[in-house]
Amino acid sequence: MKIQILGTAAAEGFPGIFCNCQHCQKARKLGGKNIRTRSSAIIDDILKIDFPPDTYHHVLTHQLDLFKVKHLLFTHTHSDHFHPRDIGMRSPGFAHNIPYPIHIYGHDVAIANCKAVLPSIEEHYHFKLIQPFNTYQIDSARVTPLLADHNPFETCLLFFIEKDGKSLFYGHDTGWFPDATWDWLMDKKIDVAILDCTNGLIPERRNHLNIEAVKDIQKIFQKNNMIHKGSQMIATHYSHNIGLMHEELEELFSPSGIKVAFDGMIIHI
Ligand SMILES: [Zn+2]
Ligand SMILES: [Zn+2]
Ligand SMILES: [Zn+2]
Repeated sequence: MKIQILGTAAAEGFPGIFCNCQHCQKARKLGGKNIRTRSSAIIDDILKIDFPPDTYHHVLTHQLDLFKVKHLLFTHTHSDHFHPRDIGMRSPGFAHNIPYPIHIYGHDVAIANCKAVLPSIEEHYHFKLIQPFNTYQIDSARVTPLLADHNPFETCLLFFIEKDGKSLFYGHDTGWFPDATWDWLMDKKIDVAILDCTNGLIPERRNHLNIEAVKDIQKIFQKNNMIHKGSQMIATHYSHNIGLMHEELEELFSPSGIKVAFDGMIIHI
């Protein structure tokens, strides 16, 4: 499985799209891995998680062949993960020589909002409502949505993706996992976990996680043999409010072995 992380910021981007705080000024000046766009990931070129407003930027920056994406999973509909109008650019006349349909998966709000802005042509856009804790066969992958602790007014999903004997846990946006998610995860083996770290050193672990919570999750994973020596844990989705540059984050995480995501990061498992 090849996983590429396409964006690693929280909603405003890092530096924030309109922000003039000292952290954003510093990130602009330093550049490199301190420039973080809105969150998404792509698996083996064909399965994409979320469709943020920076997707066109990702296509240009990482030379993506986005027409190869056959399946699109939505975690939730916050603006940094959900920009469905651009998916309409996959319609005839806007895109040529591409396979149809694209399959779009999400919970009620994501699917309803996609249907509201995309042409309702079954042969081009296929929608599938998915439920937490049900497992779906998507191409050669088995995908299980899990419950997040995020927007209390929307069912927000995390994804457990198994393919070719390997597994990816896509764990954001979320705060400390709800009990039902912990129960489901407890006997699973995780090769790669990508976890929310929006709050950095801010002492808050509801709705979004922080560094301490990510480390606590690693301890639980270790204690229950959910991860092994070769497993990779990666923290992502950083807010400008935490004021931590990429190198500072690496330093804070280095004793734990947890990696700090950056835009374009590629993981092979
Ligand atoms: Zn987000
Ligand atoms: Zn800022
Ligand atoms: Zn969110």
